[in-house]
Amino acid sequence: MERTSDVLILGGGIVGAAVAERLARDGLGVTLVERGEIGREASWAAAGLLTPVHPWRYPESLLHLDAESFALWGPLAERLRDETGIDVEMRRTGLLNVIESDEDEREADRRVAWKRAHGERAERLSAADARRLEPLLAETIRGALLLPDLAQVRNHRAAPAFAAAAARRGAAIVERTAVLGLIHQDGRVVGAVTEAGPIRAATTVLAAGAWSGGLLATAGDSAASTICPPALRTTPTRGQMMLLRTAPGRLRHMVLAGGEYLVPRSDGRILAGSTVEDVGFDRSVTSAGVAAIGAAVARMAPALAAAPIERMWAGLRPDTPDHLPSIGWVRPGLLAATGHFRSGIMLAPVTGEIVLDLVRGRTGRDLGPFDPLRVVAVV
Ligand SMILES: Cc1cc2nc3c(=O)[nH]c(=O)nc-3n(C[C@H](O)[C@H](O)[C@H](O)COP(=O)(O)OP(=O)(O)OC[C@H]3O[C@@H](n4cnc5c(N)ncnc54)[C@H](O)[C@@H]3O)c2cc1C
Repeated sequence: MERTSDVLILGGGIVGAAVAERLARDGLGVTLVERGEIGREASWAAAGLLTPVHPWRYPESLLHLDAESFALWGPLAERLRDETGIDVEMRRTGLLNVIESDEDEREADRRVAWKRAHGERAERLSAADARRLEPLLAETIRGALLLPDLAQVRNHRAAPAFAAAAARRGAAIVERTAVLGLIHQDGRVVGAVTEAGPIRAATTVLAAGAWSGGLLATAGDSAASTICPPALRTTPTRGQMMLLRTAPGRLRHMVLAGGEYLVPRSDGRILAGSTVEDVGFDRSVTSAGVAAIGAAVARMAPALAAAPIERMWAGLRPDTPDHLPSIGWVRPGLLAATGHFRSGIMLAPVTGEIVLDLVRGRTGRDLGPFDPLRVVAVV
C-alpha cells in the first residue's frame, strides 16, 4: 500500500532524526526512511564536541548557526531524556587547548581574541596551572587556554533519542529500508521510491549525509542531470577514532592539541581522534590511523598511552566543496539538510528549526551561504 505523509525524510542520521523530531513536535505528519539503523553512520562515529575545533577559520554565518544550535542543545537534551529516557549527557566539561609550539601560541592569541570578541570566556593558563587542572597532560606543554563553557554530548545516543521522541509524536521511523529514487510529478518532487514501495509527501527532505549527492544523482529520471547542484555533491571525509578505557575522573576536560583531541566520557572512557582523510566511501580502520592517533595520545597525555584500547572505528563526514552545509530548497517539494561536515552533531538542533521554518513558509533568516543552489567556491 502506498504511504503518504506531510514530510518524508531520507536518511536517519542525527540530522534527519533531529529534523523529524522538530517537525513532529510542530504537529506535522512525518515519515523517516533509513536504509540501516538510526544513527549508525557519521552520527555514531563522531566525538560529540559542541564547538568547531577552530572557530576563527569559519565564516560568521556558520558561527551564528553554531551559537543558535548550542543554545538549543541544553533544553533539547533535557527534553529528550524526559520524553525517551535516553540521556545524551550534554556536559559542560570545558576544553583545554594545549599550547605546544610557536604556532600554537599564535593560534591561542587568535582564539582568545576571537572568544572575547564573541563574549565568551577564555583564560590563558601556565603549564603548571594546566597540569594542576589535568595531571595527565604532558610535562612538555608550554601552557594552555581554558575554555570553560564548551560542552559535549554522547553523540551515539543522540540520533536514536531524536528518532524515539519523533516516534512518540506520531512519526513513522522506517529502518532497514533504502531509498531508491525520487518521485517527480508536474515539476515537483512528491516523494520517493523505497525498497518498501513508494512514499508520497508534500515535502521531501534529503538528509542522507555523505550519500546525499549520490542519491540525487541516481534519482532516475530526466530531471536527474539538473537536480544535483554543486553544493549538493557531497563527498565522504573519513575520520578514524580510538576509544580508551580508563577509570572515571582521570581526565575531566576535553583536550585539544593542534588538530587532535581527547574527549572524556562520564564513565571513564576517553575518545581520541581523529584523522581527516579523503579515501572515498571506505570506513576501514588502518594501521596508519592507529599510529597517528596513538602518537597524538602519547604526545598529549603520555600516561594514557598505557590505557587499553577498547575499540576503534571510522566514520564518513559529509563534506561539500566549500565545506558549508546545504540547507534549503533544491526544487519544488525537495529540501536539503545535508553536508554538515565536521559540525553535524553541533548543528542538528538548528537544522531542525530551519527546516521547520522552510516547511511552514516562514522567512527571515539569511540562508544564502547555505543555499543548496549557491555558487560554490572550492576551498
Ligand atoms: C570521526 C568523526 C568525528 C566527528 N566529530 C564531530 C564533533 O565532535 N562534533 C560535531 O558536531 N560533528 C562531528 N563530526 C561530524 C558529524 O558526525 C556529522 O556532521 C554528522 O553526523 C552528519 O549527520 P548526518 O545525519 O548528515 O549523516 P549520517 O550520520 O552519516 O547519516 C546519514 C544517514 O543516511 C542514510 N542513508 C544514506 N543513503 C540512504 C538511502 N539511499 N536510503 C536510506 N538511507 C540512506 C545512512 O545510512 C545514514 O544513516 C564527526 C564526524 C566523524 C566521522
